[in-house]
Amino acid sequence: MRKKIVAGNWKMNLDYNEGLALFSEITNMVKDEITGKQQAVVCSPFIHLHSLVQMAKGYDKVSVGAQNAHQAESGAYTGEVSAKMLKSVGVEYVILGHSERRQYFGETNELLAKKTDTALANDLKPIFCIGETLQERESNVHFQVIKDQLIEGVFHLDAANFAKLVIAYEPVWAIGTGVTASSDQAQEIHAFIRKEIAAKYNQQVADDTTILYGGSCNPKNAPELFAQADIDGGLIGGASLKSRDFVDILRVFNA
Ligand code: PEP
Repeated sequence: MRKKIVAGNWKMNLDYNEGLALFSEITNMVKDEITGKQQAVVCSPFIHLHSLVQMAKGYDKVSVGAQNAHQAESGAYTGEVSAKMLKSVGVEYVILGHSERRQYFGETNELLAKKTDTALANDLKPIFCIGETLQERESNVHFQVIKDQLIEGVFHLDAANFAKLVIAYEPVWAIGTGVTASSDQAQEIHAFIRKEIAAKYNQQVADDTTILYGGSCNPKNAPELFAQADIDGGLIGGASLKSRDFVDILRVFNA
């Protein structure tokens, strides 16, 4: 049975104290309100990570993730943070290939393949983001774009390593725009992704892969999105900055 996950991406928001306060609210609400097997993952800026890992001890339904990691093990890369460093403070997940990293920092599928390898070699679980732009959807090349992102970014992995990934489908046109993909649009792509995974590996690997939807997901639209057969949770930006909204999205999977 694949995991149901709701991951929050705080992006470059919240100073240190604000981040700790939000995380404390989230852990308390999760303790009181979550009755299923779903997992919350909070992906904060680097400065919060060590403290959040400490605060998460004893809350097994809340994990901590980073939003990026460098592809090299170590070295002269001023300003960067390595996967090994993240692991050393107890971080469990790392978002790789977010469209903002692809768009503003020039991250290519080739680079992301290296980042994925390094993250896995350091025992981190990548949340690997893929998704098309509006122009690509309107030109009807979105299936090919997503297939290429999979082939070039993660399909070099063997099945055992691929099984450690979470995939996040995030249509770029839906991120931070308030425009959500319809549940049919999202399901169509999620089913396509799962079919591609089955073709590359096998049906068991495909069935076991958690595939998240991201893009203006909120407590109102999450129930319909998460009811789709191939949508296993969400990667949440804006709504993850409000504890009530984030936990309400997580509650959709309550037993
Ligand atoms: C994201 O940044 O991954 C995201 C999905 O953002 P938002 O929920 O704000 O659209």
